[in-house]
Amino acid sequence: GQCITHCPVGALSERDDTARVFDALADPDVITIAQVAPAVRSSWGEAFGVSPDVATEGRLATALKRMGFDYVFDTDFAADLTIMEEASELLDRMQHPEHGPLPMFTSCCPGWVRYLKGHYPELTANLSTSKSPHQMFGAVVKSFFAERLCVDPRKMFVVSVMPCLAKKAECEEPNQADACEAPDVDCVITVRELDRMVSEEHLDIAMLPESEFDKPISEATGAAVIFGATGGVMEAALRTAYHTVTGEAPKPDMFSDVRGMKGWKEATFNMAGTPLHVAVASGLGNTHHLLEALESGEVHYDFIEIMACPGGCAGGGGQPIHDGEERAESRGEVLWGLDRKADLRNSYENPSIQALYSEYLEEPLSERAEHLLHTDHFGWDMPLAPDVKAFSKPQSKV
Ligand code: SF4
Repeated sequence: GQCITHCPVGALSERDDTARVFDALADPDVITIAQVAPAVRSSWGEAFGVSPDVATEGRLATALKRMGFDYVFDTDFAADLTIMEEASELLDRMQHPEHGPLPMFTSCCPGWVRYLKGHYPELTANLSTSKSPHQMFGAVVKSFFAERLCVDPRKMFVVSVMPCLAKKAECEEPNQADACEAPDVDCVITVRELDRMVSEEHLDIAMLPESEFDKPISEATGAAVIFGATGGVMEAALRTAYHTVTGEAPKPDMFSDVRGMKGWKEATFNMAGTPLHVAVASGLGNTHHLLEALESGEVHYDFIEIMACPGGCAGGGGQPIHDGEERAESRGEVLWGLDRKADLRNSYENPSIQALYSEYLEEPLSERAEHLLHTDHFGWDMPLAPDVKAFSKPQSKV
């Protein structure tokens, strides 16, 4: 890809994959598919001074269709799918310790996965094996959806629109190509690249009509939208785990103690009589202190959510940049607001997810689900970082 230079002295450059996407869109033999991450809908209008009320997900779907994408889907669907797999995996590890160690770490942030593999490789087995939502989505598109369309999945070009730079490397990992001989996701573009494409296509966001994401793999619950904010993956997983354990729907907001912008949060929840100790951290400085405390035995948890970017993906490295201003919190509020307004707030209630399991995947952690939706974190090498632990002493919880 072409590189765009932002650094005033030209020492740093940002990878730009928009030319690859435009090439695929121009090729009549390629079936182009876009998917949009939860956090993108809170920020894609910022570069044009358009508020989230106007730069909606409906107008985003229209913009991508106008660019020429054959199908436009919502990664939120796969966030619900990730929760089904990850919540099942957590309960499985709690019941069968031989299936994987606790605490289980969330694995949907590739910035965090790379940090862990580089700095704390001894904890790799603690990562959930569930792929991140956009990777699960790519695998479902190139298996289930390709079969539905009766097309060769190798003719598909899946583009993930993400608030994230680390996902560009994630989609190129060898264990993220399970549906066919090609990668599950072909290209990741950031919100900044999306906005460049909007400009190049001369689209006026406010003038676009709203449209819906394509079916049958776009329906999503409030639990999926909050993936974009710190604490959201944890809360979404606990809602579904609670239902699995008790058979009852969780009360709205019963797991809200892990929300908020504090860098390291912890809580204990009662899961049908079993106390579940959880922690949530965002930002790699907070992560470092949490892992040092964990390894020294100072703290004990069963389930830990980590996001590399402060505030989670709402503050992601691929989001629009505003000099001297951090918008992670306000974007996160947009996502929590969408969850509050959602008719369905629990991943297990998503009818499209229920249909995907009954028609194709059978059940969470089934053989097919393991093949398509899980990855082997030991299957690729991350260069070990210099001994950063020597530079920073562990601190107590903030
Ligand atoms: Fe990417 Fe940052 Fe979100 Fe991690 S927290 S998935 S690095 S945007």
